[in-house]
Amino acid sequence: MAQRITIALAGNPNSGKTTIFNNLTGARQHVGNWPGVTVEKKEGSLRFKDYEIKVVDLPGTYSLTVYSLDEVVARNFVVEERPDVVVDIVDASNLERNLYLTTQFMELGVRLVIALNMSDRAEESGHKIDIKKLSELLGVPVIPTIGYKNRGMDELLQAIVDVADGRSMAGKISLEYGEELEEEIRKLAQLIEKNEALARRYPAKWLALKLLEGDEEVIKTIKGEAPAITDGQVILDQLRKSSGHLKGIFDDEVETIIVDRRYGFINGIYKRAVSRPAIERLSASDKIDSIVLNRALGIPIFLFLMWLMFKFTFTLSEVPMGWVETGQEWLGDMCGSFFLEGSAFQSLVVEGIIGGVGSVITFVPIIFLLFFCMAILEDSGYMARAAFVMDRFMHKIGLHGRSFIPMILGLGCNIPGIMACRTIEQERDRLTTILVNPFMSCGARLPVYALLIGAFFPEKGGTVLYSIYILGIAMAIIMAKIFRKYLFPGPTAPFVMELPPYRMPTFKGVIIHMWERGVLYLKKAGTVILAGCVLVWFLGNFPWNPEYSKDYDRLKQEAMSDLASGLIMKEAMDETIANLENEQAREKMEKSYLGRLGRIIEPVVKPLGFDWKIGVGLFGGFIAKEIVVGTLGTLYAVGEADDGAAPLREQIQKDRWPNGKKVFTPLVAFTMMVFTLLYMPCVAAIGVIYRETNSWKGPLFAAGYTTALAWIVSFIVYQGGKLIGLG
Ligand code: GDP
Ligand code: MG
Repeated sequence: MAQRITIALAGNPNSGKTTIFNNLTGARQHVGNWPGVTVEKKEGSLRFKDYEIKVVDLPGTYSLTVYSLDEVVARNFVVEERPDVVVDIVDASNLERNLYLTTQFMELGVRLVIALNMSDRAEESGHKIDIKKLSELLGVPVIPTIGYKNRGMDELLQAIVDVADGRSMAGKISLEYGEELEEEIRKLAQLIEKNEALARRYPAKWLALKLLEGDEEVIKTIKGEAPAITDGQVILDQLRKSSGHLKGIFDDEVETIIVDRRYGFINGIYKRAVSRPAIERLSASDKIDSIVLNRALGIPIFLFLMWLMFKFTFTLSEVPMGWVETGQEWLGDMCGSFFLEGSAFQSLVVEGIIGGVGSVITFVPIIFLLFFCMAILEDSGYMARAAFVMDRFMHKIGLHGRSFIPMILGLGCNIPGIMACRTIEQERDRLTTILVNPFMSCGARLPVYALLIGAFFPEKGGTVLYSIYILGIAMAIIMAKIFRKYLFPGPTAPFVMELPPYRMPTFKGVIIHMWERGVLYLKKAGTVILAGCVLVWFLGNFPWNPEYSKDYDRLKQEAMSDLASGLIMKEAMDETIANLENEQAREKMEKSYLGRLGRIIEPVVKPLGFDWKIGVGLFGGFIAKEIVVGTLGTLYAVGEADDGAAPLREQIQKDRWPNGKKVFTPLVAFTMMVFTLLYMPCVAAIGVIYRETNSWKGPLFAAGYTTALAWIVSFIVYQGGKLIGLG
């Protein structure tokens, strides 16, 4: 028994569809009209091996939107009749434009075979197409054909039956439309899936995309003018929200953005699979690309831009950071005088909340500026180039450029970074990328760096910061390579690196991007960090009246009466009292719960040059990395009885070990930055790793290995630094 399959021939006008149709079906064809419209419909049939193949010639179209009747006919046939295979006839001499239609078949998720027709012409014009690569990147079999010479037909038929029988891949790769669009597509697709009538007829994601594109036909269906559906209004409401949101961000029609993404996808494929003749006119975008994507220059340019970004961020944020610091001091003084001097409540507000949360808030300017720069790089299209450039390099470590995007996002916050790994289809690549993402230094670690750099490297701030980020990236690379080799061995799947056209970033778009990410930081400061700081304050202050080794009050009294009886001068008395108060504060801190915890931690962190306060601070950072600073803020505010409101960075400069040596030296500060960079991701990131891997193994492993690695690397940095005389 012959197996019956139906295939549809699709392609741009003049791609050679009719020629191939005739080649395949010979005389066995008949011509009619598509039902209800005056568009010609040609059908034919043939036998190939054990197959009886029915061939339908679709009208030639450039796209599958509904701007013309031809497009509606072609689309409805594919969506509603569901042919077993769609054969996309692509004019190889005009590949970029022809692939646009291909992307739309990919969106539809149909089983696809590409006939790369006119391959003779492409060759004549000097275009060399790497067919294997093209096929890999599209995830679709690609068969070179020369229609008018009847070449390649058997190979084409073989590919068709292989795909029809599921013997070969066909359209497993999906296009990505970028974070924001994907988010709205997801929301819409969820609603669509709930509607059975719709979900049965259309792929949900495709329908969502069409809605965002403003496809009238689809909107009519939802509205119920065409075959009515229930609950259409919910979907349309969401559509209005999503479109409005996207328009706000991109300051452009959503449709334009989607079209741009498709061309970006195509451009990425084209640059990889086709080598062009040297003499060809280049567009402005191509000219820029020829520099930033250059094999030799690409990576240095990327590194330089990153450096520039940090330099800019750090220099520019100094002034507003000063303002916030001043404001915090003022607020501390004001609130301090409001409450009863020496009461627990005053201490909670001034030291716990204003000292802790305030030290974290100080770094808002730097975080917003960094996000601002990143938004510019992303919105202009440069970040996609960076990923493209890194692709080649990423392959060397067993990943690919796709993994680079989650890494870059991780620089903002590891949580979206880890979530973005969803776009990586291969499990081993995905797990590797998730596990190394925490080394991408997130915004929450910035306050720690900023504090330490401000105190100890004021001159070389940008460079030190840059070196920390680079260390993180290097660590991620090394660990990825190790994981890919030993933990998740196997080949790397090919991926298309999209190259969207360059755009002038809009001010509004950049501000929105900056705000959306930055505001998370503010929210965190108001919730998790506030709670963490209050907890740390409590642990650092209780028991409230510990048993002291000396009777400080009596000693102070004695000093005063010594003055009164003329035994000592006023200065001497002041000094004695100040010393006593400091000693008392220190003792109180050491006797507190936090002090006891610190004593347990100190032996572990001492080889890294850290005292117990740093240890406790880092411990607090498990909740959220900002809390490292918050905890230090609280600890020092408590420790310095007379000077509770001075900026934290001045206080850590002065702090000493009991033996009189300074706690913080530049070397200790740098080591602490390294440790902060590398050790355990925050609780929220751990939670997300759990969610994304759906097991506790991943998150526990991530927490364990990063902390171990942090200790080892910090040990090397600190002890090595001491050896060469830095500390
Ligand atoms: P359709 O519009 O897609 O149906 O394209 P046609 O089949 O009518 O072909 C358009 C023109 O391209 C015709 O003149 C064909 O002879 C020519 N043609 C078809 N295939 C090839 C090919 O592989 N190479 C070249 N050079 N010409 C081709
Ligand atoms: Mg034709």
